[in-house]
Amino acid sequence: MSIATTNQPTPNNFTELGLIQPLLARLTEMKYQQPTPIQAQAIPSVLARRDLIAGANTGSGKTAAFALPLLQYLHKIKTTKHNNNDGNYVTGLVLVPTRELAKQVADSIKSYAVHFNGAIKTVAVFGGVSANTQMLALRGGTDILVATPGRLLDLISSNAIKLDNVKTLILDEADRMLSLGFTEELASLLALMPKQKQTLLFSATFPEQVKALTLDLLNDPVEIQLQSADSSTLVQRVFTVNKGQKTALLAHLIKQHKWQQSLIFVNAKNACNHLADKLSKRGITAEVFHGDKGQGARTRVLDAFKAGEIQVLIATDIAARGLDIEKLPVVINFDLPRSPADYMHRIGRSGRAGEVGLALSIIDHEDYHHFNVIEKKNKLRLEREQVAGFETIEFEKDVFSSTNKPVAKPEGSGKKKRKNKQQVNADIWLGNV
Ligand code: AMP
Repeated sequence: MSIATTNQPTPNNFTELGLIQPLLARLTEMKYQQPTPIQAQAIPSVLARRDLIAGANTGSGKTAAFALPLLQYLHKIKTTKHNNNDGNYVTGLVLVPTRELAKQVADSIKSYAVHFNGAIKTVAVFGGVSANTQMLALRGGTDILVATPGRLLDLISSNAIKLDNVKTLILDEADRMLSLGFTEELASLLALMPKQKQTLLFSATFPEQVKALTLDLLNDPVEIQLQSADSSTLVQRVFTVNKGQKTALLAHLIKQHKWQQSLIFVNAKNACNHLADKLSKRGITAEVFHGDKGQGARTRVLDAFKAGEIQVLIATDIAARGLDIEKLPVVINFDLPRSPADYMHRIGRSGRAGEVGLALSIIDHEDYHHFNVIEKKNKLRLEREQVAGFETIEFEKDVFSSTNKPVAKPEGSGKKKRKNKQQVNADIWLGNV
């Protein structure tokens, strides 16, 4: 496996990456001045038709890193070869875990392709909406298909599409695509594709056990692992609070900081509605986003949030993957995510593409141990902070043992800790100073 690292000299403009004029013109229009690190490293290898495994933070520009070279390749084969494809062919297949991501990735690809003047067709297919419109869109085949696995299998079984012409397969959010929930669907899909093809895996995180699964999928891949320093515009903070006080602290923070927008994560669908009700009683209007909502409602809420018409959105992890919401100032973990990898995905919704962002976790005593695990797995260590008016009863070091004995401290006995640079920055940004 060849390893590319950020230390290698990387081109700092798109022309040097070998991209063709219709793409360069579009990037100029979109005001992309230079490639992001993942783009600079991935694009030459993808253009050279190498397999790739790329670990890069969310918001790092992953979509363009695979979409630009894929479009260039498709343009080349369309103009140099006779098109002898069957009517229901697909050449570039992008598999994604959620419906929203399918739409978002397809929209980005269409936008990068505008100067091909319709010569390259991109279609998105996903569940929750009628399959008929998607079948119609697939008539005559498509150059790029962005799909969630379940709906794709349905469309294959009704002969709307065949995978035997796939030349490039991309797994976006690959760790999720290779995880348990999708294993069977992915195996069925892989069996329908040619063995000879380019395979690209992109994800923010690549846990070791997932990496092991990728060996069968990839042929002599280039590996790119960007350092987390690339997301240094994201400040992470953790506030401790007594049990039963989380909602009050959340409402206080929302009111105090008047964030233009905030995305709040909880762990269950009904918890979204429950928290929205509780916030509403405190004078805060919030919308909810979870898997029980119909697809139409999901799209409407997300579009309104993206357009800035909704200030507070409470969501389950369905919103944690890959969604690109411009200038989202704050992401809040009201419930901690179950897995350490999901923590990274959630917080990656803020601080995207160099914007300043804040990721807050609100934890009570029951969350302490789990937050320690999240930190350890993600190689983080955040100072536990308290908010005036919501001070917690101090717990002894052995708080993680079975006897959680609170140790009340006399008032005023706490030494004021010096703030680190990150917190000072966050305070300036939050208007606390
Ligand atoms: P992604 O990680 O693909 O979801 O991209 C995150 C955001 O960064 C999207 O809004 C992209 O439009 C934007 N973006 C991607 N590449 C660049 C670039 N080279 N320059 C500026 N913005 C970019």
